Amino acid sequence: MSTAAAYAVSAPDGRFEKVTIERRELGPHDVLIDIKYAGICHSDIHTARDEWGGAKYPCVPGHEIAGLVAAVGSAVTRHRVGDRVGVGCMVDSCGECEPCVAGEEQYCIPGATMTYNTPVAPEIQADGYTMGGYSTQIVVTENFVVSIPEGIGLDVAAPLLCAGVTLFSPLRHWNAGPGKRVAIIGMGGLGHVGVKIASAMGAEVTVLSHSLSKQEDGTKFGAHHYYATSDRQTFRDLRNHFDLILNTVSADLPIDSYLKLLRLDGTLVILGLPENPLQIKPFTVAGYRRSLAGSMIGGIAQTQEMLNFCAEHGIGAEIETISADQIDGAYERVVASDVRYRFVIDTATM
Ligand SMILES: [Zn+2]
Ligand SMILES: [Zn+2]
Repeated sequence: MSTAAAYAVSAPDGRFEKVTIERRELGPHDVLIDIKYAGICHSDIHTARDEWGGAKYPCVPGHEIAGLVAAVGSAVTRHRVGDRVGVGCMVDSCGECEPCVAGEEQYCIPGATMTYNTPVAPEIQADGYTMGGYSTQIVVTENFVVSIPEGIGLDVAAPLLCAGVTLFSPLRHWNAGPGKRVAIIGMGGLGHVGVKIASAMGAEVTVLSHSLSKQEDGTKFGAHHYYATSDRQTFRDLRNHFDLILNTVSADLPIDSYLKLLRLDGTLVILGLPENPLQIKPFTVAGYRRSLAGSMIGGIAQTQEMLNFCAEHGIGAEIETISADQIDGAYERVVASDVRYRFVIDTATM
């Protein structure tokens, strides 16, 4: 066992405090990572505050991890000491089920081991559940560690490990590219990366945001069009228009109105996860053979493909770097949508 500094909450309404946690001894296929930056994802907040149920305390969130390899196990071949690496939402999976064999570990049938708050044997994490990236070090099996290419800063790469691949995966799966009209609903931590990636893929990109307050940024990130959804005229102007709509918003939206913006054979993909059931009129999907779909992060190979793509196109997340003692305040601001566009913790402040 080795020890690492971490920031944890000890109750749903607790504040983050510095703690010391244990990380396992390196197994033959393990990589020890010195974490440099950890992004703050909205899922971290839901878990730390036990809004999804089942949270374990002390809770160390963080699944947007970027750092340097500090040591490797005897059989590791994919990474070397000093390499720039990242870890996203998963740290292991069964490796044998149909989705795992297909490289879609996020859909592992017995369930992937998520980076934090997933029950594991004490040999994996002493506390009996995984602890994430708000920490100075983490041990992860080599197959779940991706390389961060030169050319992307580790700080702006960190949010790509969750937010980036969450957008990249559906854009690839539904063939975003030249000649395709893609809409991104929401210009937050997820949406702003989606605009950059979809635009770099060559698609015609439209942002559908509640207001026009971030229009200038949207255009800078590569959006060709920008509409306010608070204006009813938007829904008349864009009827039957898009091939692909990605919904990054986790608040309740009138999803049927958005489905009507799809042209023949278009698909609306749900990425944000509101708690309430959706209201859909069957006629809306039957007409124009529209599809309503969902997508969850991306597999490890696709996460690597996404990082390579982002390096090639000079894409990083837009970030505000904070010190570890500012996490509580950052959470308040994320909940209030007051961040452009992702908070990243500098672990040197731990
Ligand atoms: Zn996330
Ligand atoms: Zn599996």
